[in-house]
Amino acid sequence: MKMFSCFQNFRFTSLHSIPARTFSLLKELAYVNGKWVNANSRSTFPVLNPVNCDVINNVPDMDVSDFHVAINTAANAFETFKKTTAKERSDLLRSWYNLMVTHSEDLANILTRENGKSLAESRAEIKYGNSFVEWFSEEARRIDGEILQAPIRNRELLLLRQPVGVAALITPWNFPHAMITRKAAAAIAAGCTCIIKPSEDTPLSALAIADLAEKAGFPPGIFNVLTTSIRNSAAVGKELCEHPKVRVLSFTGSTAVGKILYRQCASTMKRLSLELGGNAPYIVFNSANLDIAVSGAMASKFRNTGQTCVSSNRFFVEGRVFDEFIEKFLKKMNNEIKLGDGSKDGITHGPLIKESQLKMVDSLVKDAISKGATIHCGGKILSELGPLFYAPTLITGVTKDMQIYNTEIFGPVAVINKFHEEEEVIREANNTPFGLAGYFFSQDISQVFRVARSLEVGMVGVNEGLISCAEAAFGGVKESGLGREGSKRGIDDYVDIKYLCIGNIQH
Ligand code: ADP
Repeated sequence: MKMFSCFQNFRFTSLHSIPARTFSLLKELAYVNGKWVNANSRSTFPVLNPVNCDVINNVPDMDVSDFHVAINTAANAFETFKKTTAKERSDLLRSWYNLMVTHSEDLANILTRENGKSLAESRAEIKYGNSFVEWFSEEARRIDGEILQAPIRNRELLLLRQPVGVAALITPWNFPHAMITRKAAAAIAAGCTCIIKPSEDTPLSALAIADLAEKAGFPPGIFNVLTTSIRNSAAVGKELCEHPKVRVLSFTGSTAVGKILYRQCASTMKRLSLELGGNAPYIVFNSANLDIAVSGAMASKFRNTGQTCVSSNRFFVEGRVFDEFIEKFLKKMNNEIKLGDGSKDGITHGPLIKESQLKMVDSLVKDAISKGATIHCGGKILSELGPLFYAPTLITGVTKDMQIYNTEIFGPVAVINKFHEEEEVIREANNTPFGLAGYFFSQDISQVFRVARSLEVGMVGVNEGLISCAEAAFGGVKESGLGREGSKRGIDDYVDIKYLCIGNIQH
């Protein structure tokens, strides 16, 4: 089998061949204190297009010394920014949002190029990501305190909600736009200043939105984007966790890295928000509308080529509808998925992000095949399409001794299990250390409430496969993380509550 390594196959794309407007936001410098800067060391690293491993651009490889400067910058900027009014911050976010809407197509083009998802998916992510900026521009106006009933005469008791300080935001490659806006807009609404460390695989979307933040009139130092290669990620992550001037750390990524950050943050008792891995069950009961269940399964499983933490990871289909579900699902997979270069018309799904992901998905499937699972379609790398493509795959006959049963697959592989009892399937759905999202399909109203309450997850889709929006609280339980993003709760991670007791009031 022919395997490509992205890092052995650099090819520079001529940017002159790309229409100017499309990539007007493409940057090659980091953004610190309102300036576009190189790394202290002048080192750079390449950002690759996963479709063909061409180099899109080189960006600064910032190290701990650069982060040290940025932390001090953000801490200084906070001294002024914390005094702004909610209305001023709301207006700032609104201007940023308006620019992001105007430049949606530019942002989507950059996103497709560095992440590989199709343009349709990128447009949807930009719309979704922008919606958090709009939402928090509105929520900024409502970060109210409280006046309490004092138990003692001649006292007034108040609760103030004040910004915590510098916020460090570490984000992943699977939603390079939305994972930043969801955190940064909440932080800025609260009055915090931000240091953003995007994924080494997708820093260009982060720099593009920094450009728009600058154009929106963000004061220097409140929105900083520092790009780092994987070589520096652990060290700068440690610096962000252990620096006393960083007061809150928000991370979206793997549970393994989340646990490292959790430990490191103990030294400075930081506020923490962790959005980590999932292992979502997708349950189809006998009473379900099967067409709705199959459409939901397509969206939930294959969005971003399966590289989504809320992706359905384990399908459980009740005995009576099992065969029909498989037949309909297979038909839809064959008819609706067009793999290829996401920037081309008609392509619905792109490659995986990098070789390590491809190898992981391939080895999970190979392990399942070697232990007797049945492959209904796919089950192989498609090197004829490019170095990182994996065929959409449907597997049944999976047993608990197969690695794929208990692992977050993060690829276009649907594993479908049969079940016979509601109790049995709930037990199995909850039999994981993770608890991010869960989905089930049923028309039985009593079953809907029973099962929704029983699933050990932070988010439940009932007869829906795509559930996230700015209005709702996104987050998990168990080892899927801490805190909630979006919704009116999304501000909580960025504010401290201060109690004021005013005594001896003369009446
Ligand atoms: P994935 O495996 O999906 O790439 P990661 O958790 O490794 O997810 O990456 C998510 C983000 O965490 C990225 O920005 C990455 O650079 C960063 N990261 C990876 N390792 C560390 C670490 N040890 N400390 C801090 N950040 C890290």
